[in-house]
Amino acid sequence: MLTRRETHCVRIGSVSVGGHSPIVVQSMTDTNTSDVDRTVEQIIQLYEAGSEMVRVTVNDIKAAEAIPEIQNRLKVKHMEIPLIGCFHYNGHTLLTNVPECAIALAKYRINPGNVGFGQKRDSNFEQIIEIALRYDKPVRIGVNWGSLDQELAEKMMNDNAKRANPLSAEEVMCETIVQSTLISAAKAEDLGMSPNKIILSAKVSRIQDLIQIYQKLSDRSSYALHLGLTEAGMGMEGIVATTGALSIILQEGIGDTIRASITPKPGAPRTDEVELCKQVLQSLGVRNFKPSVTSCPGCGRTSSDYFRRLTDDIQSFIAEQMPKWQGRYKGVENMKIAVMGCIVNGPGESKHADIGISLPGSGEKPIAPVFIGGEKRYTLRGDTIAQHFKEILIKYVEERYGS
Ligand code: SF4
Repeated sequence: MLTRRETHCVRIGSVSVGGHSPIVVQSMTDTNTSDVDRTVEQIIQLYEAGSEMVRVTVNDIKAAEAIPEIQNRLKVKHMEIPLIGCFHYNGHTLLTNVPECAIALAKYRINPGNVGFGQKRDSNFEQIIEIALRYDKPVRIGVNWGSLDQELAEKMMNDNAKRANPLSAEEVMCETIVQSTLISAAKAEDLGMSPNKIILSAKVSRIQDLIQIYQKLSDRSSYALHLGLTEAGMGMEGIVATTGALSIILQEGIGDTIRASITPKPGAPRTDEVELCKQVLQSLGVRNFKPSVTSCPGCGRTSSDYFRRLTDDIQSFIAEQMPKWQGRYKGVENMKIAVMGCIVNGPGESKHADIGISLPGSGEKPIAPVFIGGEKRYTLRGDTIAQHFKEILIKYVEERYGS
């Protein structure tokens, strides 16, 4: 059982992050924000996939001016989606010159390494915090090692060189990221921002460093934490790296909201990053979003690829049904289904599930027992196994989760 470390609860529009709130899934668009049609379309796709907040780039005046229109279009569709503005370099100017943007956004993301240069950096940071205070908005102070405060990094390296036992360059880099994040949060508090208006993130792309950084942030503060492995990569590599990193940190009870920064393959939907976050939380048993399907990998005992097709069919069926089931059947997302390939583990695994089917392996009688609540209730056979199993599943859902 995972016990979360307690953090301040931050309200972001209609969503709560931190405190005792469930871990929130978020994502980011990759459209040109000033292209309102495409941005709204992608925000809706991300939201419908399960993203509870959506971040958009606000990099120029056109993007800033587009934000109120984007918000209006979502409101017309009765979609209350907290929009987070991602600012680098010119956030202070954009938020000042386009107050409608500052008002429409539910949160501002500030990168302390990218708020300006030299002496301007502090005043630009202050300006954003003052705007956030004026409009009562929370901020995410999001440090990223790709844009780390170079002055602080240099100072930390020089200080380290004078130590009797200097730390490795990697350790200094991690410590610099942590300090940059916490110094910026303290500055925001000095300017009048309450801790329950501040979320922190400190993203790197190396898993071991990320773990170390988040452990330090969690040990040294009670701010709500946004968790993510930055620039995780594409395909299997990005999925494995993100899952590994997030799982280890979440298992320590650290993290209040997560994002998967994977590079989509050409043509792949942006919503894959949302699906990945949900799968990570569901696999860890932290939060369920849909019924889970336990299935075996198959082996030499499997008589055909039917169990693969049936598993795929059942998963697609659940994905289709969930929009309907969600509103109608409370708790259906916790249902456990098993689809197994033969008698070796099939009946056992099916009995552990709420509802399970054990297909016949090679050399077995061509029958598929169905177990409900640990007891054998049906025996299916022939070409209609999939159809009958889905009918049994629908009946089970109605009986167990229907009001
Ligand atoms: S349940 Fe049967 S078919 Fe599936 S992996 Fe185990 S032994 Fe192989």
